[in-house]
Amino acid sequence: EGVAVRARARLLDSSGHVAVILDDITESRRVEAVRRDFVANVSHELKTPVGALHVLAEAVAAASEDPVAVRRFASRMTHESARLARLVQEIIDLSRLQGAEPLPDLRPLPTAALLAEAVDRTRLVAQAQAISIAVIGDGELQVLGDENQLVTAVANLLDNAISYSPRGTRVVLGVRRSGTTVEISVADEGIGIAEKDLERVFERFYRADPARSRATGGTGLGLAIVKHIATNHGGSVTVWSAEGAGSTFTLRLPLFTGPAPSFTFEDRRA
Ligand code: ADP
Repeated sequence: EGVAVRARARLLDSSGHVAVILDDITESRRVEAVRRDFVANVSHELKTPVGALHVLAEAVAAASEDPVAVRRFASRMTHESARLARLVQEIIDLSRLQGAEPLPDLRPLPTAALLAEAVDRTRLVAQAQAISIAVIGDGELQVLGDENQLVTAVANLLDNAISYSPRGTRVVLGVRRSGTTVEISVADEGIGIAEKDLERVFERFYRADPARSRATGGTGLGLAIVKHIATNHGGSVTVWSAEGAGSTFTLRLPLFTGPAPSFTFEDRRA
């Protein structure tokens, strides 16, 4: 990849030498290309549920004499519109996270509360899949962050761990300190991720297995959102995985060593 430049000014001095001022527009070109890609992807992703709703609405109209069929189509419409709503919400979340929105509202947060809230948000999906979530580690560790964003990040990781695991397996949500960093990890015993997909799963709309992602209601945006939240907090997110054995996602955030919070941490299971 070369450097893109644009001539801003041309100067001629008295002895006839020409100087040209060049602006490096590599970065702005890249940002522009990313934005174009995003809009193209969003349009493509929106077409699927919108198209499905259209077909279902026609089916309802055509089947109006058959109440059983009408109910079946209506229930699929409910499902598709919920999917559409989630997609739109995640697109909004993501564009807020990567746009010029102010930095997150940073407050010292005990990880125990964050993890408990994230487990709460995913409790129903976990129950439906008979998956148990074990929370282990030192919940007294604190991070500086925006509560809503950090809960969303952990909940997205939990949601994936559940979606890409067989029924009855276990998910371990751990928190520990590593130097000046707090590591929050989500480990599952699921299908794992192939080597070739590993570094791409954080890209917007990238899915290792599109059919499976759609079947579980995935939007392909969950991990892109997690990555932006991590970066906004001065942290990072990485993945380790072995196909067929499981995956572990680790969210690293700067440790906050302020006044001790007043709460007790308990091992919670969903
Ligand atoms: P999706 O909505 O499709 O789950 P994500 O951005 O959350 O989108 O994840 C991107 C892709 O990464 C998924 O489609 C899936 O292929 C893969 N993936 C994410 N988490 C896991 C996991 N815990 N186990 C296996 N594959 C995963």
